[in-house]
Amino acid sequence: MNFKEMVKVFEELNGTTKRLEKTKILSDFFSKLDSKTLSQAILMALGSVFPPYSEEETGIADKLLISAVSKVLGISKNLVQDEIRETGDIGLACEKLYKNKTQQTFFSKVLTINFVFESIRKLSTISGSNSQSKKISIILELLSSASPAEAKYISKLLQEHLRLGIADGTVRDAISQAFTINKDVIDRAYMLSNDLSLVGQVSKEKGEAGLLELNLVPGRPVKPMLAKLAEGIESSVGEMGEAICEIKYDGIRIQIHKHGDEISFFTRRLENVTNAVPEMIEVVKNGFPDEDFIIEGEMIATREGKPISFQNILQRVRRKYDIDKAIESVPLSLYLFDLLYYKIPILYEPLSFRRKKLEEIINLENEKINLSDKVDVTLENIYLAKDLFNKSIANNHEGIMIKDPKEPYIPGLRGKKMQKFKAEPETLDVVVVGGTYGLGKRSNFIGSYLLAIKDEDDNLKTIAHAGTGLSEDQLEQLTQLMEKYKIKDVGTKIYVEPKIILEIAYSEIVKSPEYETGYSLRFPVIKRIREDKGIADIDTVERLVSMF
Ligand code: ATP
Repeated sequence: MNFKEMVKVFEELNGTTKRLEKTKILSDFFSKLDSKTLSQAILMALGSVFPPYSEEETGIADKLLISAVSKVLGISKNLVQDEIRETGDIGLACEKLYKNKTQQTFFSKVLTINFVFESIRKLSTISGSNSQSKKISIILELLSSASPAEAKYISKLLQEHLRLGIADGTVRDAISQAFTINKDVIDRAYMLSNDLSLVGQVSKEKGEAGLLELNLVPGRPVKPMLAKLAEGIESSVGEMGEAICEIKYDGIRIQIHKHGDEISFFTRRLENVTNAVPEMIEVVKNGFPDEDFIIEGEMIATREGKPISFQNILQRVRRKYDIDKAIESVPLSLYLFDLLYYKIPILYEPLSFRRKKLEEIINLENEKINLSDKVDVTLENIYLAKDLFNKSIANNHEGIMIKDPKEPYIPGLRGKKMQKFKAEPETLDVVVVGGTYGLGKRSNFIGSYLLAIKDEDDNLKTIAHAGTGLSEDQLEQLTQLMEKYKIKDVGTKIYVEPKIILEIAYSEIVKSPEYETGYSLRFPVIKRIREDKGIADIDTVERLVSMF
């Protein structure tokens, strides 16, 4: 199938903000594709040529792309740069410059979806000497055959900045419609595999039966099961009858996979951070069994007995350089709480079984490996849970988890089978869409951040401005991130791609015509930058309204 067809779909998607319309456009398109093209189209609709958990990225810097565009069009780099400044977007700039160029030296060949996809993928494999010129030649081959509209989307795909506003949920619904498959079956397959291109491909080739056969595979991360907020320890334990209560550690959630000789670490967002934690890989090699497994736990860092901030741990695991120094300054340890795979998938077994198995197979000799502190409670001995809660807070952790021991692990589900009871009031996870630079001494920093949550069509709706809560260092870091994701600026105001997730505490939710949600937050305070969360994890208007 020609890339031109895909571009038509991109344009149609850009023309609507309605989720149902987007779903229809995608499902009509998906149903026309063969299974390989389908898997490619799904990834591209989501803005990349790699599945989300892949460590690979296209890694094409502005400079390289600008230089390629200027070569293809025979114009100066400055002209390209001016246009980008003007339109605020490299894709739009390309389209405009291509249109201005009347000579027909292009169209030397017709671009297919497969060719565009494979060419962009190839870029990530190029390294070493001469890599820049090899990359340029691939980009030139693509861009010199492109029409203005194709150039617009190719350049966006090269930088993984497609911004079609397509959420995973829309693609899931589209696959379900295109191949008339029950949504729940699609969801299950997605939560297990975390790869919609695979789900699409299996739907097309084998239908519902094929999807039901999909299972956990070590090496491929699985969406974590999430917790609901508990109203109280007693009411939650009462509801469950019996419960496993564990300390809710203040670190980052980690999935550890062993697949043959390979060990991988994935974060809550299923980012592969294996390379950043070499010392932990060694620990796991020695303390864990030789079989294939998937284990979940919280990874924390302590210095002189005190927990190091969540932000520091995240920075450490996302680090690409100076890893040796970080091993010393941010010493990590693991508190394990679940076992999803051991020789075979066991996530459908009850938690009590999985926990017992975990206890059997883990060697606790190394002090970096621990099991989560836990108690088995009923209403009769509920004081054990309360004691555990107090111990958690005394050790600077967040509270306790209350889990139903009879329940299976359901990937991606936020349900009542696993609950959290925290000392601090609930917060909101929001995405930053803009900001304003400060005045006077603070004019180097963005002092106020415009925050948004999402509606039922996955459109972003603003909810508040927030500026307090961060240290100078954090403000600086955030300002740098904002510059990285800048779409455009107007005076002291800046608008950014929705990439930065913040956790916000507040005193009250109030009605307010000032923001698109119709609500606002009183005294919002930025608790932290949630680098472990993505746009899929932000809060919804629905939840906000229910909390109001
Ligand atoms: P929060 O913002 O409260 O961390 P979240 O949205 O990241 O919530 P939830 O599922 O709501 O995730 O809360 C559970 C989180 O608590 C897990 O993601 C995990 O990182 C952390 N955690 C700490 N200790 C445990 C434990 N013993 N069992 C399960 N999760 C734990």
